[in-house]
Amino acid sequence: MKVLLVFAHPEPRSLNGALRDVAIRELEAQGHEVRVTDLYADGWKAEVDRADFPAWPPEARFLPAGASKKAFATNTLTEDVKAEIDKLLWADTLILQFPLWWYAMPAILKGWVDRVYAYGFAYGVGEHSDKRWGDRFGEGTLAGKRAMLIVTAGGWEEHYSARGVNGPIDDLLFPINHGILYYPGYDVLPPFVVYRVDRFGEADFEPVAERLRERMRTLETIWPIPYRQQNGGDYHIPGMQLRPELGDPGATGFALHEDRATAKSATPRSTLRDVA
Ligand code: FAD
Repeated sequence: MKVLLVFAHPEPRSLNGALRDVAIRELEAQGHEVRVTDLYADGWKAEVDRADFPAWPPEARFLPAGASKKAFATNTLTEDVKAEIDKLLWADTLILQFPLWWYAMPAILKGWVDRVYAYGFAYGVGEHSDKRWGDRFGEGTLAGKRAMLIVTAGGWEEHYSARGVNGPIDDLLFPINHGILYYPGYDVLPPFVVYRVDRFGEADFEPVAERLRERMRTLETIWPIPYRQQNGGDYHIPGMQLRPELGDPGATGFALHEDRATAKSATPRSTLRDVA
C-alpha cells in the first residue's frame, strides 16, 4: 500500500509528532510505502489568493473557483499544489493528522485542502445536470482509495459523546470526513481520536501508541463509515434530499447520511478492490 500522511503540527517533538512516528514505523514495518507532507516544516502557504493562479489576468476580477478550474485544465497550478495533487494520485490511502483546534483542523491544513482540492480535480468532476449532480460523495477522482483522520483533543471522551457538551465527535468531524474526504470519492475509515491529551503522562503514551499501531495494521481491511452514495438512488436529484422512506422516521442531522442498516450485509468497495 502507498500511504500519504499529511501532518499539521508546528512542533516535531509534540505528542502529535511522536504519534506520527509510531504510525510511520508501523506502516513501514508492514511493508507499506509512506510519504509525508509536513505542512509547518514545509512552510505551506495556507491562503488562496491571486498568487496561486499566475495565468489569471491581473485586470480581471479574481474568481477563486473559476481561476482554479482554468489553472487545473491548463496545468498552470503552482508547483507546490501540483506536487500535492501528484501525491494524492500516488497514494492508495490518505491520513490527515492534526490536533483539534477550536473544534476543527488547524488553519494550515484547511489551507492545504482549499488550495490542493482544485476545481476539476476534487470538485466540478463529472456530469452536472438535473439527473446527475457530478461525481462526488462516493464517486470522483479519488474513488477506490481510503482515507482517515488521526486527531488529538484536550477534551474528554465523555465531552464528545452523544450527550456531551462539545457535541458528538462524529458530528464535529463530519464536515471533514464527509465534506472533504468522501466528497472526492475516498472510502472514509473511522477516525483515530485520542482524548484528554493535555494531561498526558509517560504512562499514557504506550497504550495509545499500541492502539495506533493496531489501526495501522488494519488500514487495508477495516470497514469504512457507511456513507450513502449521492448517485446510488438514496437521494432525490437535483434536490439532494434523502428519500423519505430512508433513515429513522423523524431523524435529522448528520447520521442520516450513513446507511447503517445495510452496511452490515455489504462488502466494502475497497475490500473488493483489494481482493481483486
Ligand atoms: P503536546 O502539547 O505536545 O503534548 C500533550 C501532552 O502529552 C503533554 O503533557 C506532553 O508532556 C505529553 N507528551 C507529549 N509527547 C509525549 C510522548 N512522546 N510520550 C508521553 N507523553 C507525551 N481541545 C479540544 O478538545 N477542543 C478544542 O476545540 C481545542 N481547541 C484548541 C485550540 C487551540 C488554539 C489550542 C492550542 C488547543 C486546543 N485544544 C482543544 C487542545 C488541543 O487539542 C491539544 O492541546 C492538542 O491536541 C495536544 O496535542 P499536541 O500534539 O500539541 O500535544
